[in-house]
Amino acid sequence: MTNSNNGFFGKFGGRFVPEELEKILIELESAFSHYIKDKDFLNELEELRNDYIGRPTPLMYAKNLSEKIGGAKIYVKLEGLAHTGAHKINNAIGQALLAKRMGKKKVIAETGAGQHGLATAAACAKLGLECSIYMGEIDVKRQQPNVASMELYGAKVVAVKRGGRGLKDAVDMALEDWVKDLSDTHYLLGSAVGPSPYPDIVRTFQSVIGRELEKQIEEKKLNVKALIACVGGGSNAIGFFEPFIEKQSPKLIAVEGGGISMKLGENAVRMKNPHAKDFTAQGYKSKFILKENDEIAETMSISAGLDYPGVGPQLAYLGESGRIEFTYATDKETVNAVKEFAKNEGVIFALESAHAGAKAMEYAKNYNKDDVIIVNMSGRGDKDIFITSPIFRPNEWKNFLKSELERLEKNVDIHKF
Ligand SMILES: *Cc1c(COP(=O)(O)O)cnc(C)c1O
Repeated sequence: MTNSNNGFFGKFGGRFVPEELEKILIELESAFSHYIKDKDFLNELEELRNDYIGRPTPLMYAKNLSEKIGGAKIYVKLEGLAHTGAHKINNAIGQALLAKRMGKKKVIAETGAGQHGLATAAACAKLGLECSIYMGEIDVKRQQPNVASMELYGAKVVAVKRGGRGLKDAVDMALEDWVKDLSDTHYLLGSAVGPSPYPDIVRTFQSVIGRELEKQIEEKKLNVKALIACVGGGSNAIGFFEPFIEKQSPKLIAVEGGGISMKLGENAVRMKNPHAKDFTAQGYKSKFILKENDEIAETMSISAGLDYPGVGPQLAYLGESGRIEFTYATDKETVNAVKEFAKNEGVIFALESAHAGAKAMEYAKNYNKDDVIIVNMSGRGDKDIFITSPIFRPNEWKNFLKSELERLEKNVDIHKF
């Protein structure tokens, strides 16, 4: 079992919330432990995984790149082929189905860049649940493609106008609204963070990745030495690692957002960072990056999904106990990995996942050619085109955006609908 001990993973985790919230989290915990053993629930989840998400996702041998590097064979779990483009749908579908079984009519969720909002909006559309996504006003402005898709799925996007108008403010406001309107609403948290029982629930729904991988390793008879995943809150990593945590091998490697430097405010490294300390925030205890005055610090990463000051309590625990080795990739290494996997393998990694890809390329050199290392491609890179294009082809992209604006201003096509 990799479950928490009463919500705790060693000294991390817990449920640090007001009393009225604690009550509903206890209700959620007991509903989850009931339905996760219920045959009908599991059958419906299985069908949604197969026919809606598109599971199992493939395990691909990155042959060209492996041979070019000349070390271990690199394999890639293509989680980005899951519906909506990333692993987030595994958790969104699981929790939305749980909410429905609990008799909830409405789902609320927070989102930063919009990937979790997108997955949640899609899951709610599929399962016939009303959906509101809380998003900082700044993120609403920056992430219009995802906002457009969420609205197309029928979700209401609530622009949060207080504080820094970012992810943290979206979480705070979603929690407050939940407390006001508890009885028919489920709060669908997007990563392996937050108060207990969320880290256990999210890991359980994401562990479908690791379970499939275990089978695929056996079918392909692979001599696996290491698994590598990126870590924002930690949901894709903990789900990918889950069946292997209690074993001695393979080595488990977690990659954080190294940003542009190790200076405070220029990265999102929570482990082995002198600015990160044991701290309790957003309902749980873990490692958080703090400023001198012990306020939560701003973070920086080229990938929105890794740009978070805290880390899942179970990962923090496993990092300190030594079972998981933590490292980081810089923005520069990450962009290079996107290019290498695209050119050599015909696969565009999401920027988050490319952090893991970068370390796989580096670590492959330490092994010989019968050894295998596997990287979790948590998402595909289509969503990053507004970030990567200005880097890879700045002038062409600028001209494209200008011509799109002109086209809109002339109002072509629009009147037809
Ligand atoms: C959100 C996201 C992440 C980071 O979240 P985790 O909970 O750490 O997995 C990583 N990759 C992609 C593609 C994402 O969308």
